[in-house]
Amino acid sequence: MPSGNRTDRRCVGPTHNIPSTPKANGLSDSPSVQAGRLPSSVLSRENLGQPTQGSDADMTAVATPAGAVPNTTIHWHSIDWKRVHGTVRRLQVRIVKAVREGKWHKVKALVYLLTHSLAGRALAILRVVNNAGAKTPGVDNVCWRSAEDCATAFTLLRRRGYRPQPLRRVYIPKSNGQKRPLGIPTMTDRAMQALYLLGLDPIAETLADGHSYGFRLERCCADAIEQCHLMLANPRGPRWILEGDIKSCFDRISHPWLLENIPMDEGILRDWLQAGFLEEGVRFDTTEGTPQGGIISPVLANRTLDGLQALLAEHFPRRHSRTSKVHLVRYADDFIITGTSRELLQQQVMPLVAHFLKERGLELSHEKTRITHIDDGFDFLGQTVRRYPCGKVLEKPSRKNVRTFLGKIKETIRNAGSWTTGELIRRLNQQIKGWVMYHRHVASKRTFSQVDCRIFQMLKRWCRRRHQNKSWTWIKAKYFRTSGHRHWIFTGTLTDKHGKSVPIALMSAVRVAIRRFVKIRSAASPYDPEWEPYLEERLYWQLEGTLTGRGRIEYLWKAQDGRCVHCGQPLRTSERPWHLHHRHWRSHGGPDTIDNLELLHGHCHRHIHYGKPR
Ligand SMILES: [Zn+2]
Repeated sequence: MPSGNRTDRRCVGPTHNIPSTPKANGLSDSPSVQAGRLPSSVLSRENLGQPTQGSDADMTAVATPAGAVPNTTIHWHSIDWKRVHGTVRRLQVRIVKAVREGKWHKVKALVYLLTHSLAGRALAILRVVNNAGAKTPGVDNVCWRSAEDCATAFTLLRRRGYRPQPLRRVYIPKSNGQKRPLGIPTMTDRAMQALYLLGLDPIAETLADGHSYGFRLERCCADAIEQCHLMLANPRGPRWILEGDIKSCFDRISHPWLLENIPMDEGILRDWLQAGFLEEGVRFDTTEGTPQGGIISPVLANRTLDGLQALLAEHFPRRHSRTSKVHLVRYADDFIITGTSRELLQQQVMPLVAHFLKERGLELSHEKTRITHIDDGFDFLGQTVRRYPCGKVLEKPSRKNVRTFLGKIKETIRNAGSWTTGELIRRLNQQIKGWVMYHRHVASKRTFSQVDCRIFQMLKRWCRRRHQNKSWTWIKAKYFRTSGHRHWIFTGTLTDKHGKSVPIALMSAVRVAIRRFVKIRSAASPYDPEWEPYLEERLYWQLEGTLTGRGRIEYLWKAQDGRCVHCGQPLRTSERPWHLHHRHWRSHGGPDTIDNLELLHGHCHRHIHYGKPR
C-alpha cells in the first residue's frame, strides 16, 4: 500500500473536525525549523531576555519554542505526531552531523533548540505518560492521567526556574533476597530528563563504543551474545575470557567526572545528580552515582564506560592482534574481554581496566571478576558460552537463569488457588513466552524440553492437590487433552471480550523454533540517515519471523510497510500491544473487515479516539 494518500485513511466519524492546520494545535513550526535551519531569533532573544518584534503569525510560530505557550492552544490528542517526530528527527540528524564534524558550538545551539522546542516537549511528555511506570508518582504525588494534565505539562518543562525535586526512595527485591534501592523522580523531572535525553542521545550514540550493546536503540542482549559467539567460535580466535564485574556501578559513578564529561547543560545535570532522595519524610543527599530509575541514567552510565574499547584498541593494536586478541563486549555494566592467555589478561588488561574505572570513581569487584578458559565456559547475560570437546562453541541458557525462571513459574502456580485454569494458563504462557523468546536464538532445544517437563510435573502436582479424591483418569479428562501425537496438553477456557468462552492450551517451549540471530553491524547508528535503510530492513526481518501466522496483523503490518498510520513511526516489538483501529468506527456502523482496519501504536489509537468527539 502506498504510504502517501493519507486523507482517506483517517477515521470516518460523523464529526470530522481534527484541526489540521498546524497553528490550531499549537505545534506549529516556523518554516525555518521545518526546513531544518536554525531560527536565530529564538536563540538571540533568549540570550537577551527580550521579546523580539514581529508579526502575530511570527509569534505563534517562532516564539513558541522559547516556552511562552498559552495552555489553551494545546490539545493533547490533536497534536500532529508525524510533524513532531519529523521536527525532532531532523534536529537530531543535524546534531549527529555536527558531532562528527567536531563543531561543538553548533551542537550546543542545536541541543538548545531541541530542548526548547514544542516538538521536543511533546515527545518527552508522550514518553513519560506511556512509560511502564507512568502510574507511579514521585514525591509530589502527581501523575499525569488526562489530556489536560499533558497540555499543562508543556508549561512546566522550562529551563528557567526549573529545580528538580528529590527522588522517592522505594526498594525492589533482588533475586538473591537482598533489596535494590530505586529512586522515583516526579513526573516533571522525568519529562525534563526525557527532553534533555532527546539532545544527549544522538551525541552519545555517535561517540559510543561499537561493541556496547546495553540500553541502546536497536541493540539487545542477543546482539552481545552473538558477538561473543562470532569471536570465540573462530578456530583461531581467543581462548581466555575476563568476566568483568563493576562494584555497584550505578551508585558509585563520580559526579565531578560526569559533570566534566557529559556533553549537556551542566547546571541541570548537577541539579539532577544532587537532587537527593526522600525516605520516610527525611531528605538524604546524594554525593555519588546516577539515580537508578531516572530516564537519563542508562545513557549516563553508558557514557561513563564508553572509551574502554578505544583504550584497549590503543594498547593492543590490530597489527599485534595475533599475539593478544584483546576484544571487548559490553552490555551496560556487564562486560567481557578476551585474550590469548591468562597472564595477558591478569597482568596487562586488568590494571588498564582498573585504572580506567578509577578515573570514573569505579572499581572492579575482586570476588566476581574472573578469568576463565573457553573450555570451562562462562556466564554472560543469562547464557553460558562454552566450547565443547567436539570443538564447537555453543551458548545455552545458564543454570542460574533456568532455576530463576522455574522458581517464578512455581510461584505463579502456588498463587493460583482461586484462579480458573484458563487464567493460570494465560499467566504461565506470558512467562514462558518471554523466557523462550529471549533464549530462542541459541542452542536451547534440550533446555526447552527439560523446562516443559518440569512445568508439566508442577501442574500435575497442582491438579493432585486440587482433587485429592479423584482418580488420574478423571483429572486427565478434566484438565488435559490430546492433539495428534501430543498427549497431556494442559487446557482450560478463558472468556473473551464478547463473553464467549474460548479454549486455551499451555504453551510448549520446545515447539518454538530456534532461529539464528543476525547481529547488528557495530557501526550502525540509529540517528544517522545513512544507516536508516539498513536498520529498517533489519527491523522488518526481525518482526517478519514473529508475525508469521498472525493473520490480519501480519497482512496490515506488511501493507503499511511496518509503520504506524497515525504517527508514521516504525511499529516495534517493544511498543506492543499494537492496536487494530477501525477507520469507520464500529460504534458508527463500520464493518470488521480488513479494508476498514489499520494497525497503530496503542497511544496513537487513543489519540485518534479521544481527539474527536463521539
Ligand atoms: Zn503511532
